[in-house]
This record gives sequence, C-alpha cells and structure tokens, in this order.
Amino acid sequence: MNHRPFEDWLLDDQPLTLEQERELQAHLRSCPACSAIAESNLALHSVRTVSPAAGFTERFQTRLVQRRQEQRWRQIIGTLILVLGGLALLAWLAGPAIQEVLQSPAQWLTTAVSYFLFILTSIQALSEAGSVLMRVIPNFISPADWLGMFLMIVVIGGLWVVSIWRVTRVPQGV
Ligand SMILES: [Zn+2]
Repeated sequence: MNHRPFEDWLLDDQPLTLEQERELQAHLRSCPACSAIAESNLALHSVRTVSPAAGFTERFQTRLVQRRQEQRWRQIIGTLILVLGGLALLAWLAGPAIQEVLQSPAQWLTTAVSYFLFILTSIQALSEAGSVLMRVIPNFISPADWLGMFLMIVVIGGLWVVSIWRVTRVPQGV
C-alpha cells in the first residue's frame, strides 16, 4: 500500500485542503498503519491541551510567593501581638513603679544611681574581703577567731546594707 502523501500529512501535522482531508479519511479507513499515526497525533494534541496551560508555572510560583508573603505577614502580626502583649503585661506588673518614675523622675534617678553605687561598692568590698582572707588564711587562725571574724563581717555587712538602704530609701509623703 502506498502511504506516501498521507503519512507526510499526518507527521507534518499540516492544515489540509478539503480534498486532501477526504482522501486522508478514505486512506485511514483502509490503512491501520496510518490510522495508528492519526490516533497518536490525536493523543498528542490532547496531551498538549491537557498539559499545564501556558503560564501555569508562573501562576504556581506567584501563588507560592503570595502564600509565603501571607505567612510572613502572619509571622509579623504574631510577633507584634506577642511583643505588645508582653509589653502590656510588663506595664501592668511594673505599673506602680513606672507611675512612681513618671511622677518623680529625679527621685527615681537618684535611687537608681545609689543602687548602682551600692552594687559597685559591694563588689569592691567583696574583693577586698577576699584579699584579706587570702592574706589571713596562711596564719592558721583558730576556729574561734574564724567565728569572730565571720560574725564581725556579718554585722558590718548588715549595718552597711541597712545604712545604704536607709540612705537610698526616700521618705514617703514629703
Ligand atoms: Zn497508509
């Protein structure tokens, strides 16, 4: 059987004239080989139309980007809510102190400074006490002396803390 023009027409997938189309249909009815080609052509066409439409990948990507942006926004909003909630809780907890600070900033500043100095002098005193101990230990002092020294340190430390506390404490209602 001669498939010559029909096979080419089918494989080239060219637009045919009505006359050619009629000849082709007649040939296809009698030729299984060419009708197989025609069928595969049809299948290819349908695959082409069913397969991702033009721009599908782009649309998918933009949707992905959109979703990612939404996620980011949700994260930002979530973080904001968390931070604001935390601040509100903090304000509620520290409300009285903040009120005090706002009412008398100068007083609060002096208190803060004196507390800072207190911590500083504490560190200094501790290091000094440490160096004294290091110097004293090699002399093998008796347990009684140890106890006396310990008590003295406690008493002096207590007096010192109390005096600092009384100095930093601002009298109320003045
Ligand atoms: Zn044929």
